[in-house]
Amino acid sequence: MNGGHDARAVASTAWEAVVIGAGPAGAVLSHQLARRGWKVLLVERKTFPRDKVCGGCLNGLAISALEAAGMPTLCDDLHAPHLSRLRLRQGGRSITISAPMGRAVLRRSFDAALVQQAQSVGVTFLPATTAHVLPGEANSDAPLRVRLQGLPSAGAQEFEVESNLVFAADGLAHPSLENLPGFHTAVKPTSRVGLGASWKVEDWPDAADCVSMSVGRHGYVGAVRTAEGEINVAVAVDPAKLRATGPREMVRDIWREAGANFPDPPEEIHWLGTPPLTRRTTPLAMRRLFLLGDAAGYVEPFTGEGMAWALAAALAVVPLAEQAREQWDDRLSARWEQTFAKIVRRRQWVCRAVAMIVRRPWLSAGAIRLVQQFPQCTETLILRLNRSLDHAELVP
Ligand SMILES: Cc1cc2nc3c(=O)[nH]c(=O)nc-3n(C[C@H](O)[C@H](O)[C@H](O)COP(=O)(O)OP(=O)(O)OC[C@H]3O[C@@H](n4cnc5c(N)ncnc54)[C@H](O)[C@@H]3O)c2cc1C
Repeated sequence: MNGGHDARAVASTAWEAVVIGAGPAGAVLSHQLARRGWKVLLVERKTFPRDKVCGGCLNGLAISALEAAGMPTLCDDLHAPHLSRLRLRQGGRSITISAPMGRAVLRRSFDAALVQQAQSVGVTFLPATTAHVLPGEANSDAPLRVRLQGLPSAGAQEFEVESNLVFAADGLAHPSLENLPGFHTAVKPTSRVGLGASWKVEDWPDAADCVSMSVGRHGYVGAVRTAEGEINVAVAVDPAKLRATGPREMVRDIWREAGANFPDPPEEIHWLGTPPLTRRTTPLAMRRLFLLGDAAGYVEPFTGEGMAWALAAALAVVPLAEQAREQWDDRLSARWEQTFAKIVRRRQWVCRAVAMIVRRPWLSAGAIRLVQQFPQCTETLILRLNRSLDHAELVP
């Protein structure tokens, strides 16, 4: 998986696309372009496989995007458990909603499988390498330059590559663009941060097809069981409370407050964190450069859809990339904004509304009572979130 490519060969290649970040957005986009005959370099700063803070729930939209990408058996190949129940706990109350919730994956395995798919169609994968897009000369139509810096473990080589197009799919803080003027990221001041870990379990109180959501005053914890025999835990919490309490205690306290009778996380596990989650970047494209996935913006993950948005955006940007392949046209920036709004932003309002409710105990207690009385409404909402990708949506 770790490419072992010769830096000189990589630097001397005229790339048609450099894709930065090997999460779902970057890996699937690379795969799509290479399948169409593009010469693609996929750069990832971590060694692979790597862990990632994520609930690991692939909803119906994500699964239909994988099918549209030509990877219909990926979840089956990974033996990803089917999810058919959501158990919501808050203040000692618990409700279970039965509805198709998708599949549970461990990001370490899922992202590695996506990268393997990309490599199998000819993508050059460069892990353990940090990418930074370099500012170009004003009004120049020259290809973009990207500086690549290997990790010390990968030889710490530093070199530059040139590419006709660059795609920033490097996650929440999109560090690859920090040297570029012109991008602005608005971070919601009250945003929660993400936290996650996974560990081996023999037994777990909730069933294997169940997504367990536990809501407390300072955040919420999602937990699913994975094909690897691990429990995968993903958390959105108030950063000040997390600093004061620590990750393990934070998760334990939320479980106790919500009434979840789960065993405490082991002491020795390694927790990963994220920067503040709710953010939005503008613009989403600039000369020869597109942003997609979390790099384009994100909202709190209660409804667990970030991978679906990342995958859908990876498919939707392809027609624009094909147009830009021959010649960059500034109107493509506005078209990507419109397509992104149609594919991703209009889906995010549900996430925002749910995040607003779970932050207010009196509202969420009322919401749980409503769900108990009218379970069909919640099932309808879940089916709506799970709605498969409409191919017409992908046409910019
Ligand atoms: C608590 C929490 C729970 C979540 N639960 C779910 C869920 O259940 N279901 C769901 O669908 N989504 C969930 N999400 C959201 C989901 O994890 C993200 O939306 C998704 O990973 C976005 O994919 P991406 O490809 O845009 O970015 P990422 O998956 O973040 O990948 C970006 C990659 O870029 C690399 N990178 C960063 N900087 C550089 C650089 N300079 N050079 C090279 N590489 C770089 C990173 O190492 C990383 O591998 C959750 C998120 C959080 C925080």
